[in-house]
Amino acid sequence: MRVSQMLVPTLREVPAEAEVVSHKLMLRAGFIRKSASGVYTLLPLAWRVVKKIEQIIREEMDRQGGQEIMLPIIQPAELWLESGRWHVYGPELFRLKDRHGRDFCLGPTHEEIITDLVRGEVRSYKQLPLLLYQIQNKYRDERRPRFGLLRGREFIMKDLYSFDRDEAGLDTSYQKMYEAYTNTFTRCGLKFRPVEADSGAIGGNNTHEFMVLAEAGEATIVFCPEDSCGYAANVERAASPARQLAAGQPRELELVDTPGQKSAADVAAFLGVESWRVIKTLLYRTERGLVAALVCGDRDVNEVKLQKALDVLNLELAGAEEVQAACGVLPGFVGPLGLSNMVLVADEEVMQLQDAVSGANQVDRHYRHVCPGRDFIPQLVTDLRLVQAADPCPRCGRPLEEARGIEVGQIFKLGTKYSKALGATYLDENGQTREIVMGCYGIGVTRTMAAAIEQNHDADGIIWPAAIAPYHVIVVPVNSKDTAQMSLAEDIYRQLAQAGVEVVLDDRPERPGVKFKDADLVGYPLRITVGAKAVESGQVELKVRRSGESELVPVAGLTERVKEWLMQL
Ligand code: ATP
Ligand code: MG
Repeated sequence: MRVSQMLVPTLREVPAEAEVVSHKLMLRAGFIRKSASGVYTLLPLAWRVVKKIEQIIREEMDRQGGQEIMLPIIQPAELWLESGRWHVYGPELFRLKDRHGRDFCLGPTHEEIITDLVRGEVRSYKQLPLLLYQIQNKYRDERRPRFGLLRGREFIMKDLYSFDRDEAGLDTSYQKMYEAYTNTFTRCGLKFRPVEADSGAIGGNNTHEFMVLAEAGEATIVFCPEDSCGYAANVERAASPARQLAAGQPRELELVDTPGQKSAADVAAFLGVESWRVIKTLLYRTERGLVAALVCGDRDVNEVKLQKALDVLNLELAGAEEVQAACGVLPGFVGPLGLSNMVLVADEEVMQLQDAVSGANQVDRHYRHVCPGRDFIPQLVTDLRLVQAADPCPRCGRPLEEARGIEVGQIFKLGTKYSKALGATYLDENGQTREIVMGCYGIGVTRTMAAAIEQNHDADGIIWPAAIAPYHVIVVPVNSKDTAQMSLAEDIYRQLAQAGVEVVLDDRPERPGVKFKDADLVGYPLRITVGAKAVESGQVELKVRRSGESELVPVAGLTERVKEWLMQL
């Protein structure tokens, strides 16, 4: 392809709307344009990358016996009512009505529709296992669409569903997908980590998330530094044993002045106590009303654990005004004593304390010598702690480490949740009716592309891993008016294209600086520069985008050398 003919609208300015590197670079390098919040057009370069990622995914799914299909995006509400999710999914579901007033939604995921398919087509154990997948647009009206393709409202996902006779079959399918995902992300050239995303169960293997390690990641993961242990989990789900805290002796409750001391750390310093001794009280709004969550002052609340413990669908931190209305003070002076108008949920560690500090629900005042169980009784005591670096590994006890990750894929053992709800059964060897055991497995294709940029860039632009680069090589004639240079560049371009190398020729009448800048910005793994010397010497400069190293290569051996490099990049 000739750059003069390509739609690659590069920008010199950093677009103001973009916060993260991948979003900025995809706009600047002419990969995407926004159509609406969280909805993007993929321009030719981005579409090529997507197709490459999709191809790798396809090969890995097929290798495990997956069969590709295409399910409808428009899904009838009836199926979602049958599964019970029509009312549970909430505002994230894009809902629409047809001209007859019938309800539909745009698929955010496809468990219902594929279970409906399978219940109609599968009769016998002989038809199982079955691995069906598709690669398609998904629709989720995300509360906060942001970071470009990392969190869109329309995005491309590969979703595979496994159908097995029993749990043992599901284990095998799950293992296959674990392997397929590991191969996929390795082939994409990404540094990633599968982490447990199990709901609190230590060592559980019901679900794993595949995390691309990058600062821009919205997820925090904790992992054991000891390779032989290998524990790694999303912090949302990570478990860690409660600490044994020096509880102290119960003493008489005392009201003390703490002017302007709001955070647990400040109050602790002001009163000269350990920060864990200060009970942090956070108010959440739920469909069951306000809830106060209590954790030790050096901890954060794990909202996923809290939501599960309360069994609520909605959970959001209450705003300052709501807190003021409910407790008579602003956050910072709120405490569990006398909070009779809401549910109290305490972390186990809090209940160990005998001599604690808490807000007094009075401005600039705290209580000292608070004794949980004596001075207040929570309705629920459970594990609410957000695990943090240096907490002990739940498997081996070593201090955990933290990193940030982008969830590019998730594999999940569904069991019989959907087959039960929708009646997807088969007849076993003995003619008994049994429920099909299912799993679901997603990869965010567009998110993977963005994650690759988060992990592979520098100040000048993107650095594509060769396996998913939109093109491998750009040929840049230094002076496009020089016919000798142009014709050598044309020769090289043709020679590489014929050898199957994905190559573009920057034939634009631009200054060399502009062409070099664009080449770096777009992130072609290799650049071949054809200057005046090249014409004389028969040697061209080959430059590697990632390392910046360059070498002179005779034109005759260029294709071989390019191929060698591409194997390594
Ligand atoms: P998240 O927790 O990031 O919202 P999720 O757990 O809801 O994601 P899944 O239902 O597991 O997502 O979807 C499978 C994959 O689809 C995810 O691993 C992710 O790569 C991708 N994905 C999910 N939501 C989005 C989105 N809004 N934009 C882009 N990709 C997404
Ligand atoms: Mg997920």
